[in-house]
Amino acid sequence: RAKARGRGRAEVFDDALREQLSAQAELERAIAAGLRDGEFEVHYQPVVHVGSADVAGYEALVRWNRPGHGMVPPDQFIPIAETTRLVCDLDRWVLGQATRQLAAWRAAAAGRADAVTMAVNLSGRHLTDRRVVADVAAALADAGLPADRLVLEVTETVLVDDPVAAEHLAAIRGLGVSVAIDDFGTGYTSIGQLRSLPVDTLKIDRSFVASTEPGHDQLVALMIRAAHTFGLTVVAEGVEDLAQLGRLQDERCDHAQGWWFSRPLPADRAGELLLGPVAVPAVG
Ligand code: C2E
Ligand code: MG
Ligand code: MG
Ligand code: MG
Repeated sequence: RAKARGRGRAEVFDDALREQLSAQAELERAIAAGLRDGEFEVHYQPVVHVGSADVAGYEALVRWNRPGHGMVPPDQFIPIAETTRLVCDLDRWVLGQATRQLAAWRAAAAGRADAVTMAVNLSGRHLTDRRVVADVAAALADAGLPADRLVLEVTETVLVDDPVAAEHLAAIRGLGVSVAIDDFGTGYTSIGQLRSLPVDTLKIDRSFVASTEPGHDQLVALMIRAAHTFGLTVVAEGVEDLAQLGRLQDERCDHAQGWWFSRPLPADRAGELLLGPVAVPAVG
């Protein structure tokens, strides 16, 4: 009897697992089809100079306009895409869109947008893919965008764990592209390691920027000072109010990004921030 019951439980477990796997496979198929059918779009959130609030650049953030589901945020499909090579296709598509979008804005701005950068998130999975360096070079060439206007955002774990990722990052930086550590402070990288990491920019995670916990102010100040000592540019993520901005100004943080300035916007509205409300080419 005990044996029979045990088997019964295993079957229930198998059923649950089977269901989960088939839901996952279903979502993977939908993502792949959505990519083919043009259901994804890229929104752009401005990254501003802390001192002047002028646009320094944009971060490209993908969304899935999935029929019957509305606008699906990346947290609901990137983790699934990351379990397969699908995320490489998705990242490559975003990279193509974002580089062409900045090139279009630069052309429309007739010199006024030459300093503006475009940041694109790169999954760890894509960074270890052997085609990643060629993907980045091809995107720049296709868009006609100077390499030093592109920033690739990667998370701490990717930087620390993987020798192949490190090799690819070095080659990407060799092209002239900048690299940013995203969500800094949420992983296991210490401030001291910043000295030896192959990156140009530090993005402080919004959990620190928004925190009212005692000590977090000083922690942010410390991150900014250490990053500057090691020659890195600092971006504060998730700035939502004036008090947060004031602290960042006091600490001489370079750039900030967050709802206080702007939500991520569709291309045409993001372009208006740069060019004024004129006809702005949006990359289709
Ligand atoms: P992330 O790269 O750290 O991007 C910042 C996230 O914070 C974005 O969420 C942005 O909308 C949100 N955010 C910006 N300002 C504020 C604020 O003031 N308050 C709050 N509460 N949130 C703010 P989003 O767009 O949902 O993206 C989530 C994550 O998905 C990104 O985090 C990134 O890790 C990933 N992701 C987005 N696009 C791509 C992509 O094209 N490829 C890959 N591999 N990952 C992507
Ligand atoms: Mg990012
Ligand atoms: Mg981030
Ligand atoms: Mg994040």
